[in-house]
Amino acid sequence: MATEHVKCLIIGSGPAGYTAAIYTGRANLSPVVYEGIQPGGQLTITTEVENFPGYPEGVTGPVLMDDLRRQAERFGADIRGGIVTKANLSKAPYSFVIDEEKEITADTVIISTGATAKYLGLEDEKKYAGMGVSACATCDGFFYRKKTVAVVGGGDTACEEAIYLAGLASKVFLVVRKPYLRASKIMQERVMNHPNITVLFEHNATGLYGENGVEGMHVVKRMGESDEERYDIPIDGFFLAIGHKPNSEIFKPWVKTDETGYIITEPDTPRTGIPGVYAAGDVADPHYRQAVTAAGSGCKAAIEAERYLSAQGML
Ligand code: NDP
Repeated sequence: MATEHVKCLIIGSGPAGYTAAIYTGRANLSPVVYEGIQPGGQLTITTEVENFPGYPEGVTGPVLMDDLRRQAERFGADIRGGIVTKANLSKAPYSFVIDEEKEITADTVIISTGATAKYLGLEDEKKYAGMGVSACATCDGFFYRKKTVAVVGGGDTACEEAIYLAGLASKVFLVVRKPYLRASKIMQERVMNHPNITVLFEHNATGLYGENGVEGMHVVKRMGESDEERYDIPIDGFFLAIGHKPNSEIFKPWVKTDETGYIITEPDTPRTGIPGVYAAGDVADPHYRQAVTAAGSGCKAAIEAERYLSAQGML
């Protein structure tokens, strides 16, 4: 297997990875970035991004990611297609397998593999992607001012998204499959007491309909042990909030993760506890999950990597 050694390996190509590449490039670390399964990350599947600083007129997700990528390349980042399929962080230099065909070793590593929003698995979620289906209220809620939306899920995220959307939309249906909310008490109370939110307990969304985008959802309501009722609810937007899966699987033997799989870093830093190995962006962030916070943590990771190499006399 062909082997290559690099000073700084960045795994993943969302806002965290590209920002880390810009900073490590400018610091002469000659970063190598592997883009992963979804080059550009989650933002490439959103449409309009209006809350990334520096774009007063807004920008589409793909254009924003292309801008970040080109900015990283300008400073010498070597951005490559490919997926890191194995990792060994037991000792430095750390070693990785790319696409099962190439080995790479690295003095510093920035893990920025992101997280993937979970979807219900309905065909209609794909059909209406970017046309009324979203997994991020903070990103897309603005487009539903004075409209009617549904949020699926019963955890803290779903409650938080429902409350956020209720401040914009005129009506929010929270679709909960169980007869109770899993969210914390305080979030439950806020949701139950909000005049714009109606909680539909023991409901499942089974499909969506509409000519040019989402105009409504099909639901099924469980009634007792064996009975059910099927009906339609007109809505303009359909938000998924049934959890995220951080893409941390191959690193789990070495880094600490919480029960969902988010990498646990030292407080307020991207340090994983392994010297020279950092985690940035959504893979280590169960709370904020924004492009700008991911970019900020990518910057921190890059500065850490540069200082680490400098302290080791490896620059
Ligand atoms: P959770 O796993 O806590 O909740 C997921 C919700 O989605 C559950 O209600 C679950 O239902 C529901 N769900 C899962 N799959 C399906 C499905 N196929 N169909 C219908 N419903 C489904 O995820 P969250 O993202 O809400 O939270 C993750 C973690 O982050 C939690 O620990 C949470 O407390 C924390 N968090 C904290 C916040 C805060 O403190 N402000 C804000 C946001 C998150 P069921 O209950 O039936 O399993």
